[in-house]
Amino acid sequence: MAVKSVIKGVHIIPMGTSNAYLIEGDDGLTLIDAGFPSKEAAVFGAIRDLGHSPDQLKHLIFTHGHPDHIGSAAAIVRETGARTYLHSLDIPMAQSGGPFRLLKPAPNLLAPVLCNLFFHPNERVEPVTIDQPLTDGELLPVAGGIEVIHTPGHCAGQVALLWRPGRMLFAGDVASNVMGLGDPLGFESLEDGRASQRKLVSLSFDAAGFGHGKPIAHDASTRFRNKWGI
Ligand SMILES: [Zn+2]
Ligand SMILES: [Zn+2]
Repeated sequence: MAVKSVIKGVHIIPMGTSNAYLIEGDDGLTLIDAGFPSKEAAVFGAIRDLGHSPDQLKHLIFTHGHPDHIGSAAAIVRETGARTYLHSLDIPMAQSGGPFRLLKPAPNLLAPVLCNLFFHPNERVEPVTIDQPLTDGELLPVAGGIEVIHTPGHCAGQVALLWRPGRMLFAGDVASNVMGLGDPLGFESLEDGRASQRKLVSLSFDAAGFGHGKPIAHDASTRFRNKWGI
């Protein structure tokens, strides 16, 4: 599948059942998430489609350490030398390549089946070395400024990333947008996950990207407020 623009400067890379995003910045290219294993060709293809070369990928930021977000990371880093970033709570999972912490299915009818289908805690992926731990509230001097918001619940080391120049939120698996805006497949802690969804409601952004499902290009804040606002 070809790379598609979400907003100016941001492209979605479909990687099967999960998404990665590529940001074109003055400091080179930044990739958000790295899909399941063996999906690296989709990333290199997207980079070339946009007229760049893989060595222009400078930063690889993970929303969390699950296999569908870090799976192709080691192969991507080998080819590009990109610097890697992940919240400290998920670094051990990424650097060991599994096993992964258990998830309880989200509270909806389909989640138990889908969670079993797509999430295997004993899966092993190629380990990836993390260069820089992410912490809540920091502003990364990457692609013009990316704010890190710690949003645990689905995964203890889950972060949302707010790209300030384009007012786009990368929600990872805090939420999904597969059949409308909703929950991810599962949670380590549902209570923490709800608190994180409400935390995102308090932010102001225009566009949103998800680990799973379609991105939203306009008025995304309003959609989040309608879903999880009080
Ligand atoms: Zn996940
Ligand atoms: Zn995911």
